[in-house]
Amino acid sequence: MSHTTDRPRNSAIQEKLARLGIADEFDLVLHLPLRYEDETHLYPIRDLPAQKTAQVEGIIIDNKVMYRPRRQLVCQVDDGSGVLCMRFLNFYGSQVKAYANGTRVRLLGEARPGFFGIEMVHPKCRVVGEQEPLEDTLTPVYPATAGLSSDTLRKLIYRTLRQLREAGNQPCLSETLPEEVLRRHHLQGFADSVFFLHQPPPDAPADLLQERTHPAWRRVKFDELLAQQLSMRLHYQQRRHGSAPAMPPKNRLTSALLASLPFELTRGQKKAFFEISRDLAAVHPMQRLLQGDVGSGKTIVAALAALQAIENGYQAALLAPTEILAEQHYQKLRAWLDPLLTPLNASIAWLTGTQKKKQREIILANIASGNAMLAIGTHALFQEQVEFNRLGLAVIDEQHRFGVHQRMALREKGAKKDTANTASSIPHQLMMSATPIPRTLSMSYFADLDVSVIEGLPPGRTPVVTRLVADTRRDEVTARIREACLVGKQAYWVCPLIEESEALQLKTALHTYETLTLIFPELKIGLIHGRLAPGEKSSVMESFAQGEIQLLVATTVIEVGVDVPNASLMVIEHAERMGLAQLHQLRGRVGRGTTGGICILLYQKPLSATAQERLKVIYEQTDGFEIARHDLHLRGPGEFLGARQSGLPMLRFADLEKDEALLEAARAAAEQLLRDYPEHAQRHVQRWLGNRSEYLRV
Ligand code: ADP
Ligand code: MG
Repeated sequence: MSHTTDRPRNSAIQEKLARLGIADEFDLVLHLPLRYEDETHLYPIRDLPAQKTAQVEGIIIDNKVMYRPRRQLVCQVDDGSGVLCMRFLNFYGSQVKAYANGTRVRLLGEARPGFFGIEMVHPKCRVVGEQEPLEDTLTPVYPATAGLSSDTLRKLIYRTLRQLREAGNQPCLSETLPEEVLRRHHLQGFADSVFFLHQPPPDAPADLLQERTHPAWRRVKFDELLAQQLSMRLHYQQRRHGSAPAMPPKNRLTSALLASLPFELTRGQKKAFFEISRDLAAVHPMQRLLQGDVGSGKTIVAALAALQAIENGYQAALLAPTEILAEQHYQKLRAWLDPLLTPLNASIAWLTGTQKKKQREIILANIASGNAMLAIGTHALFQEQVEFNRLGLAVIDEQHRFGVHQRMALREKGAKKDTANTASSIPHQLMMSATPIPRTLSMSYFADLDVSVIEGLPPGRTPVVTRLVADTRRDEVTARIREACLVGKQAYWVCPLIEESEALQLKTALHTYETLTLIFPELKIGLIHGRLAPGEKSSVMESFAQGEIQLLVATTVIEVGVDVPNASLMVIEHAERMGLAQLHQLRGRVGRGTTGGICILLYQKPLSATAQERLKVIYEQTDGFEIARHDLHLRGPGEFLGARQSGLPMLRFADLEKDEALLEAARAAAEQLLRDYPEHAQRHVQRWLGNRSEYLRV
């Protein structure tokens, strides 16, 4: 960028600026005020407004250090209309001298009735001469950092703005948008907006500035959102230019699978598969995110997509974030697909990180030869040694669980290892997520993907009933579980999440297991946690699925994807420690059958305000999208996005909750710029993201 000029020169300052994310001139002028103080006029002391910061000027008529109720500097200031007391609890000797009787001072602060009459405590106080001019713009207050005060920042920013104004062409503030776009979206000029926000005139509407809805704010936010939209779309297009194998629907294996199922696809599933099927037929790689609430039936859609690849002679891979889920998929897909694949001499491979070397070699050979047409596994499938013969489709289940780097590895693997294709061919990619992504987020941070949503759940599901129970009433809960298990129901008992230490979590799980074994001597109880060997995990899950285990004590390893329809009860301990998405996922494990599930959330008092809010949401809501919306509200996009967020610049100005309309506008403008004004688009992205658009390679 051309605006990495030598200002500011001082490297100590530069270091501090860097802490505020300011690396160049553009960053500096976009370091926008948090709020403003009004030093453009003076109030008579007699008319001081209540509960509002205001400025007065007067002469100090009394000045003393008092020691009761504690040491403090107390001055009386008289402006002819009245007398005001100013009080400093921490002060320097120099202040005592500076505020001598007869000194004229200007104070900015909030006046309130106090011990010594109307007073300002720790006002901003400045010694002034007579007739000293007032500020002619509102005074911005900037986000500051240690050693770099708002005042210093203001000086730096004002100097830069002055220089930019004098330079005339204002390279880092020049207009990037064509007239037509400005008009269509009712946008004011960019440079004007930035100047305005740093130096608003005295009559600027304070509330609009504060709420950040003023047209100047609107313009800055629009530009920020536009940059995000453009870079996402540019990146999408770039990937879209790659080539991928065309795998049109042959309706042989897919139809056979549909015919063999005991159920019919829901409308939502049909629509999603239709969109995927159409993408797979194209010669460009699909980049689609399939969203559907917990239990909406994404697995079958993935199986159909895999079959469409297979009936075109291509392999498919299905990745799951945990061993348990990978194995469950393997079992389930084998039941569905083996009858179709066996006659074709094709098989399904299952790869995990913990298989024996010998076994692993056989599996790898099967994948490499193309004998295994479907490979299911954990991230072990990403590894170097895994070579596919003709990989046509990669499905990533619970994609939000995978790190950015793992997804990147997969993308590269497809590009490099598919030897049967031309060098540049990459597999189609289908990502699945049960964490519903609120609309605004999917429109912004997922704008580089196409999105399908499975609306609704399969018929016949009765919603899970949620109960909040204080830990002190544990006994009632155990009585209820005993009763239910004795009449043939099955239950999960989820141990508390202990984030700080996996070892401690394991200990807690073992302890819970022992305690419950004592409480329920008549029940068959199992234990599952992340540290069990894969073989042990699967045999426990198998016994639970078979009904041999009545009560399964589990850590949150069961959170993703686990599907045992007969399990209709769940107790979650220390529910107050868990996030909303996690609670929703866990709860989604029960009520998979038709009997209707019950989820008991045990919590321990005292509850923090957010914990209370979370429990209220999970109690009142069952719809995943509603829950996600609240979750986003409680946590903000950074945390909500989790893995995807690493390396992803968050929005600084726009607020996805409040600025939805602006996001829509920015999206429309991005489309238009890319189509009609590609150079403007390029320049805009360059200005806002510069080299930072690297993250988009993920
Ligand atoms: P998720 O979207 O959470 O991954 P699953 O794919 O595990 O959900 O499906 C949940 C359960 O619903 C499974 O037992 C699955 O076999 C069943 N299922 C899927 N689609 C349908 C349908 N259309 N009708 C009835 N049951 C279905
Ligand atoms: Mg699933």
